[in-house]
Amino acid sequence: MHVPLHATLAATSASGEAWFQCRRCGHRQSARVTGMGEGAQSFLNTAGTAQRRAATDAVKDIQRTIRVARCPRCARRNPGATLRWALPHLVVIAVFLAGGIIAGYLPTWLDINMSDSDRDICKWLLPLLCGGTALMIVPIVLWTRWHGIDRRIDWIAPLS
Ligand SMILES: [Zn+2]
Repeated sequence: MHVPLHATLAATSASGEAWFQCRRCGHRQSARVTGMGEGAQSFLNTAGTAQRRAATDAVKDIQRTIRVARCPRCARRNPGATLRWALPHLVVIAVFLAGGIIAGYLPTWLDINMSDSDRDICKWLLPLLCGGTALMIVPIVLWTRWHGIDRRIDWIAPLS
């Protein structure tokens, strides 16, 4: 049986207006924000799923982006905003590491026919491979998304 295990990736952007509220100086201003979205689909999904997911993600990114905006008055970001923005990416590292640990211990838990030394190698090699891969890829993704984030925010002149 032939199983088509391909995946489709799509990326798109969306723009919209969003309100920014500075928690440091209380300044409020609206901005036109460009959100960047990515979507993926597997062979199980109907055609166009990746594009739809990317479009939905891009609209959500408008809010994600305005929350980490640098205040146009005091030039600071809201406290904790950067960490909250980065958190989902850091969770990915944790999930990969946990997945690697589980995979590494499976031969022991399931009592698979392997020598004890091979089982021990799995215990550290698989977490290292999965966690290490995530540790290499996630910072690149983080940097790519963070880079130029301030340029995606166009402040609209405040009403006085
Ligand atoms: Zn401010």
